[in-house]
Order: sequence, then structure tokens, then C-alpha cells
Amino acid sequence: MLRQSWLGQLAMCPERARQDMVGLSERTETSNTMIGTAVHYGIEQCLNEMMMAGEPLNELDSVNSSMGYWDEHSHEIDNWNHTRENAEQIIEANTRVWWNEVMPDMRPIAVEEQFEVPLTTLESGTEVWLTGTIDCVQEFPYAITDWKNPGGKPRDEWLMKRWSVQAAAYTYAVNELYKFGEPLPFEFVHLVKGKVHRTTVNFGPAEWESLVALARSAGTLIEANLSTWPLNMAGWWCSPKWCGAWKTCRGQYAGQDPF
Ligand code: SF4
Repeated sequence: MLRQSWLGQLAMCPERARQDMVGLSERTETSNTMIGTAVHYGIEQCLNEMMMAGEPLNELDSVNSSMGYWDEHSHEIDNWNHTRENAEQIIEANTRVWWNEVMPDMRPIAVEEQFEVPLTTLESGTEVWLTGTIDCVQEFPYAITDWKNPGGKPRDEWLMKRWSVQAAAYTYAVNELYKFGEPLPFEFVHLVKGKVHRTTVNFGPAEWESLVALARSAGTLIEANLSTWPLNMAGWWCSPKWCGAWKTCRGQYAGQDPF
């Protein structure tokens, strides 16, 4: 069973993905991820109400849901990259702007949809399945959506259009589950300190076949049972702040906080 987010890690750094798989990586909660989870929670409550009652949760209750999640879970943060006040301002601003600018056009049919779908079979006969959780599936042809809460305006939108493991995985899963047709639109909704940036990509059989090829390479690598996989240090992810394997990898040579 391959998780979509793990395939994304593999594309960044194979060794990081291996250490995560065997449980060597440290899992640390950052204020960045907690802000994102809190905003997701408020959005989820709002859309669930829309699906069940026919009307969305109002703006204030949606913001209160996000802030309630934050109040309950912010003590779990290990690495603070924001002040508490700044984090709370971002959560409120992002939930509000989502409610006002994104929610009115939404036609949700599933929120936080967990999936397990078959991907391929390896030469050894091992079946490879894909798992993950989709933020929101909408009526076709409305886009499958993913909420992101990054620190700054997203860059390199052409990269997402050219290749996104996440968009390939989620459109593949929705095609398996719903058989809407193809290609399927996938929208990245970036909520950045109270501003919305949207990017839609259309993915179909060509991207899904590439995803299957990636999964086959991953499965073959796992079955080879190697003690280490290639290290990819050439990117922002290779730092003590963003790689949970830092201590057991580059941190042994470069120190715990060299940058
Ligand atoms: S420290 Fe760098 S090279 Fe090592 S696993 Fe992490 S990202 Fe990969």
C-alpha cells in the first residue's frame, strides 16, 4: 500500500522516503502544519454541513471551528515558525477568505475522502495499491480540490501543471471510484495570509500511466530490500527544518543546525 504523500517524498529524496517507511524519521509537528490542519478542519465542518443540511456553516462558525481545533491542538507543536498571535491571525484570515471567495461556488459530494485503490502488479506478483485522503470531491465537472496554506504565494505553477504526484494520484483515485470521465480537473487552492491563489490542472490517462510507472519503480525498490536509497540533497527539503531524517542522514556530517 503506497500513500500518495509518500510517493511525493520519494520524488523529492528516495532516502528520506525509505527512512520514513522503516520508521527512522522523526515526525515533528510544526506551526506550519498545525495552521494548515486547523484551516482544513474549519473547511471540513462547513462543507459537511452543506452536504448534510443543504446550507453551509456560516462564516463565524467556520472560523470558530478552525480556531477551536487550534486551541485544542496547538500544544502539540514541536517547532514554532510563527508567533502564536501570527498563527492565529493566519488561521482566521485563511478560513474567512476561503468562506467568502471559494465556498460559494462549491458542489461537494465527499469531504476528506479516504481511498484505497489498486494501481499495478509487480513482476514478482506483488499487488501495489494507492492510498490517501482527498480534501474535497465535487460533482463532475467541478474540480477535485486541495487546500494548501503555504507561507507565501505559490511559485512555479507550470511545475504543477507539468507534473504533480498529488494531482495524478487523486485524479487516478477519483477515476477508479467514480468513473466520471477523463481528463479530471484538479484544483490547488492556496490560501496565503488571507489571499486566494488557484491553479487548475487537467489530468488523464497519460499522467495516470506515469503514476503507475512511479509506483512500479517504488515497489521494485522496496522489494530489493536495500540498506540505503539515493540521497537527493539538491533542494529546499534537505534541511533540519523540513527533513525528518536529517539527524540520521546529513545531520551526522553537517551538524544539527548548520544553515
Ligand atoms: S537529509 Fe537530505 S539527503 Fe538525507 S534523507 Fe533528508 S532530504 Fe534526503
